[in-house]
Amino acid sequence: MLTRRDFLKLTGAGLLAASASGLMPVSAQEAESAPLIYHGSSRHRYVNLSYDDCYLVKKLQDLEKLLDQYPEFKITLFPVGLALLNNEGKDPGIWKRFYDKGHEIGYHSWDHTNFGVLSPEAALEDYAKWLEALTQVLGATPTVRFGRPTYGSLAYSFDVVCRENGLVNTMWSTGWGGVTADVVKYTVPKARNGDIILLHIRTDDVNTSLGAYPWMRENGWRAVTLSQLYDDLLTEQHESAGCDVYNGPSLTRTCIE
Ligand SMILES: [Zn+2]
Repeated sequence: MLTRRDFLKLTGAGLLAASASGLMPVSAQEAESAPLIYHGSSRHRYVNLSYDDCYLVKKLQDLEKLLDQYPEFKITLFPVGLALLNNEGKDPGIWKRFYDKGHEIGYHSWDHTNFGVLSPEAALEDYAKWLEALTQVLGATPTVRFGRPTYGSLAYSFDVVCRENGLVNTMWSTGWGGVTADVVKYTVPKARNGDIILLHIRTDDVNTSLGAYPWMRENGWRAVTLSQLYDDLLTEQHESAGCDVYNGPSLTRTCIE
């Protein structure tokens, strides 16, 4: 019998490897949680900058202008569905511009609902509504690979949405929220390889980005999408022949006995 902890060790490439070698019954795979990620590989001098909620069109536009000066930086946005439609109304094409420039968009609920009080059925409907809005603003159905639960809550219904739609349940390893001057001075320089950094589209966090991006570039840091961070991690684990490649709270595994 596989425990939840065993399963978490076996997510992603590990799961595929275990399944292919017959170590894991198919029924156990189906019954267990979606992949869960807190941070990427410590081998790469990069971070993922992820910006949640995205209600404020002005701040989103400010971030777009900043990113235009850093074309090598790619980010991930986690907008709620209402923000997708509202900001599209205020600045038509804004989401497609981010998308076409290589940034990524992930699921973060329709209206910042708490998944802890939502049934799995209602949560699945919430995702469908959100995806419809995203499809509408992009003009085509995109591939969505990541979902971030509201309030960072690992609710069962959110896990169901991830499982049913092939999403990676995405947490974070550090946050750059708070008073800009302090964050830029004390928190940003503590970035670690593979960090998934939580930010929001709000005044403080966009100002923090204005201070952090130049520092990152000067100090040889890259900003990559979650897709790149996650795929690098899976590749690395796959190549590790079933043994740990680093110590972290998730997506790690010891040797498969
Ligand atoms: Zn949020």
